[in-house]
Amino acid sequence: MKRIAIVGGAGRMGQALAVGLGAVEGFTVAALVDVHEPRELFAAAYKSSLDELDAKTVDVVVDFSTPEGVVSSSSWCAKNAVALVIGTTGLSDAQRTAVEQAATKTGVVMASNFAIGEVLSERFAAMAAPYFDRVEIIELHHDKKVDAPSGTSLTTARVIAQARKAAGRATPVDPTLRHTVVGARGAQVDGVVVHSVRLPGLVAHQEILFGGPGEGLTIRHDSFDRQSFVQGVALAVRAVTSTPGLTIGIGSLLD
Ligand code: NAD
Repeated sequence: MKRIAIVGGAGRMGQALAVGLGAVEGFTVAALVDVHEPRELFAAAYKSSLDELDAKTVDVVVDFSTPEGVVSSSSWCAKNAVALVIGTTGLSDAQRTAVEQAATKTGVVMASNFAIGEVLSERFAAMAAPYFDRVEIIELHHDKKVDAPSGTSLTTARVIAQARKAAGRATPVDPTLRHTVVGARGAQVDGVVVHSVRLPGLVAHQEILFGGPGEGLTIRHDSFDRQSFVQGVALAVRAVTSTPGLTIGIGSLLD
């Protein structure tokens, strides 16, 4: 039995994971940890901080909170040798360093997107990248998302840039010379343009648009519901207790 504590347990993802992970055979959600009391406890205990938790009662901490929350989770998990799965995005370099330090003491899996279809779409994008000179990403999320561009689009842009570099393909120069309105061409991430859309009603969506002479290829992934992340988080929870160090992304866990 894997005993799980969800940090950010009162949030949109925390509540969805409490339902989803709680239904997985061999898992039990032991605690919801949050600065706010969760609307639903789903038979788990509520703790306002990991420090209130007896480390002997949890096998894995799953963090979907804030970058500051991730730093606290990393230090608690390192101190108590409890494995950690991180889904929170928008970490600064210093916050990432805190995660890396924790991973020298316990297993950590960190992924910007746990949806299996999205992980596959990154693989497909890496396959296509050497064959198309132009590529732009449109990421679309709900209107409550606080970071932009999405962690997923940053990862996807880097995967595409690495695939092009490995194939010896140069980064194309954007021919747009006049920016009548600043920001009209989106943000540059490793030479890949990323556009962010925020609208009510959306969950998490991404289009990767490749263009070549006379043809285009669009790879689109949609998370219609937060349950789309459960399967990938469950995969990480199963793997993390026997995978020392830091694992970035769940691609390697799918093989
Ligand atoms: P949310 O705002 O609904 O929930 C965040 C929760 O964290 C809140 O309940 C808040 O009270 C709590 N919190 C804040 N600081 C805390 C702390 N120090 N300790 C404990 N709890 C704390 O946000 P959300 O939509 O659930 O998203 C949470 C994070 O997960 C975001 O960073 C989002 O980008 C990320 N996310 C990742 C994936 C993925 O697949 N990796 C998918 C969806 C969302």
